[in-house]
This record gives sequence, structure tokens and C-alpha cells, in this order.
Amino acid sequence: MITHHPKHELLKLHVKGELPASISAAISMHAELCPKCHKKLQALTLSESNNEFDDHNQSIHIPQSIDFSSMIDDITSSEQIYIETPKKLKVVKVRNNEYQLPRAIDSINQSQWQNLGKLSRARLDLNEGELHTSLLHIDPEGNVPAHTHKGFELTLLLDGSFEDELGTYVKGDFIWLDKSHTHTPETENGCLCYTVSSNALQFTKGLARILNPIGNFIY
Ligand SMILES: [Zn+2]
Repeated sequence: MITHHPKHELLKLHVKGELPASISAAISMHAELCPKCHKKLQALTLSESNNEFDDHNQSIHIPQSIDFSSMIDDITSSEQIYIETPKKLKVVKVRNNEYQLPRAIDSINQSQWQNLGKLSRARLDLNEGELHTSLLHIDPEGNVPAHTHKGFELTLLLDGSFEDELGTYVKGDFIWLDKSHTHTPETENGCLCYTVSSNALQFTKGLARILNPIGNFIY
């Protein structure tokens, strides 16, 4: 069961369209799997559009003169028929696993996978400067050494599960960590994550010069 959700403030910014695309995509993917946040977003969207009406002092006005029956005739007699073909979800293959990506990110360009031990990473090309977005795959029994975050680290778990000192995470969990958190993620059966980071990791145990390449790899 999903237990980690975006904060209310984040949902509000999402509805207003004020978040970077990378973070909005994570909220959309979470809401697809989380009925609770899905409902919250619907309510926020409704109140946001009501506010817009208030802002512009608009009201809905239907002129009496519209001839609805001829309008419907016009529409139904149209020769143009649009058939929307269902979009194929992009499948990614990594380390002998296949995953279907959620719609929110299936059209984003992705780099080749790079491997470092049990970690594999593919960059997602969103061009958001210091905000780096990636797909991170961890093989079974893999981990990331204990670290904290100079900026923030957003993880949306796309498949599988992982654990750290703070709990166990499942598909759909939305995990937002910053410099106040130190953790050592590890996975028993493997996982695929969508990650957005604003800075490199800072390792808290072991030799920085040995671990920093891992930090740069993940960021
Ligand atoms: Zn939620």
C-alpha cells in the first residue's frame, strides 16, 4: 500500500502549473496509483477554476438565439471523424527486465543506460538545469551507500520495492527527502525508480573520494 504522498502545498502548485515538469510528472504518476491524491487533485482543480472565474468576474451566459438542433445537425453531419489511437506505453529494458513506463513520462527522451555495479541509470532529457531527472534501476540485493542530500531528492517508485532506515516503499510511493534526512536505500528484489535531484548526494559513511563517483552517477 502507498504510504508516502506529495505534500498538500505541492499538489496545489501542481494544479496551478507552477512546478517544474519533472516534479509535476512525478505527481501525475503518483496520482494515477493513489486514489486519495487523485481525489485531492480533482478538488483542487475545481476550486482553482472557480477562483479563475472569480478573478475575471465572469459568468456563464448562453444567448437565447442559439439554435441547438441545427448545431447538433452540423456536428453530426461532419465528414471528419477523429479516431484517437491508443498510445503505446514505452517499454524500457534494463538488466534483463522489462518495464512499462507510465504515460506521464513515456514521451520524454531517454539516454542510454549506464551501469555501476548493481545500479543502472538512464537520464531523462528535460533540460531543467540543475534539476536532474533519471530512471534508476537497482538489481536485487543492491543498495546506495548511506547519504544525505545537499538539495532535495524526489523518488517515485515505478516498480519493485526498497527499504531504508525510514521505512519500506512500494510502487507509487512519492518520497521527498532533503538535508534533514540520512538514509541507506537497499532492495531485496530489485526496483525501478524515477528520480529528480537538485544536487549531488553527500555520503555520510566511508571515503568520499571513493563514493563520490556513485553520487555523481546517481545525480
Ligand atoms: Zn497519494
